[in-house]
Amino acid sequence: MKYFLSFFLTVSFSIGTVAQTDKNIRRTISQIASENIESYIHTLVGFHTRHNLSTQTDPNKGIGAAARWLHREISGWIPLSDGRLSVENVTYKTGGPGTRLERQVELTNVMAVLKGTTDRKILVLAHYDSRVNDNNDSTSFAPGANDNGSGVACLLESIRVMVDTPMDATVIFLFLSGEEHGLLGAAAMAEKALEENWNVVAVINYDMIGNTESSGTGHRDNSGNRVFSAEGMSRELARYIKETGEAYVDNLTVHLNFRTDRYGRGGDHLPFLSKGFTAVRVSEYHENYDRTHQTVRIEEGIHYGDLLTGVDVEYVRKSTAMNVAAVMNLAKAPGIPTRVVMNARELSNYTKLTWDTPEDGPSVAGYYVLLRKTDQPLWEKKVYVEDNSITLPYSKDNYFFGICAVGSEGHRGLVRPVE
Ligand SMILES: [Zn+2]
Repeated sequence: MKYFLSFFLTVSFSIGTVAQTDKNIRRTISQIASENIESYIHTLVGFHTRHNLSTQTDPNKGIGAAARWLHREISGWIPLSDGRLSVENVTYKTGGPGTRLERQVELTNVMAVLKGTTDRKILVLAHYDSRVNDNNDSTSFAPGANDNGSGVACLLESIRVMVDTPMDATVIFLFLSGEEHGLLGAAAMAEKALEENWNVVAVINYDMIGNTESSGTGHRDNSGNRVFSAEGMSRELARYIKETGEAYVDNLTVHLNFRTDRYGRGGDHLPFLSKGFTAVRVSEYHENYDRTHQTVRIEEGIHYGDLLTGVDVEYVRKSTAMNVAAVMNLAKAPGIPTRVVMNARELSNYTKLTWDTPEDGPSVAGYYVLLRKTDQPLWEKKVYVEDNSITLPYSKDNYFFGICAVGSEGHRGLVRPVE
């Protein structure tokens, strides 16, 4: 028994260390073009402002024109989707006296649905509203090229390249309004998802993914981004994004930040997180406070404002590629194992784990049992099994364990950590 186990583990570890990639996903990623990303952001900046109280009737300016353009742009890809892609506006009433929006208004979230063969849902978010210093100023030039033209461009280009690939999970791209006045659009969608009992696997929010130079300290780097996550399943999603992103995207390090967001600031993943969904935020590694939320101006020789010149489109391309890698892997992978149990009562240096087959997703070929020492942030070892139980010669006192399902084509799903 002991001999068999150690032999088995040796073999399994060598399998685990070989990076497996899917050529279909690699081909999809290769179609992502920084020129398209630049063009989307250029168009968004052209609406002058996307402030939540800006005009909704002007054909060329304001948040209404931006929403109509998003809808049109996405509609243009419907014929390429073999009936899988659809787009709709989800409106909600918000604001009024006593709120951060001084008058009541109806705002629009643009929802693009790339239908899979099941109703398991992966949600990808980016807000398209913008602001300047004074958050009540709805008419000044508020280009919002990085915050959050960059995130919107990531979603648009992801839809464009993924549109012709059938997948198991349904991917919903949410272009959200209301972010700059209190995550209003995201709150409306999280409420809707809960009310309609959506089967949500993951929520990934892209907000500010194009700046590569930190104001003040002057650090410059376009090789790393950040994924912010809360403990539990959201952190497993973050680890998943890191593993898949780095396997498919060259010159990209995905830094995991083990906190829900930055100090004093939040994003559209938070209303989903607070309703119990698995949700993370992706952001640039360095932030530039001369650009974010700044009124466009020059003061004492310093250029302020969130213009396209402050966005590194190649850097946005890398986070977009990371997004496609994570979403396509997840959408093709089996669901999450349920009822994962560790026998914690027995005093033994072996650890026994059992689990149930995922309730949804493509059929399961086997499982990875993952291990890491208790002071390690990332999974360190991977053991492949085809049964629904395993006994490992590692003490439960020295390791954390997790289980994920692997499909017949090698895509792995999210890890269920052992509590
Ligand atoms: Zn933002």
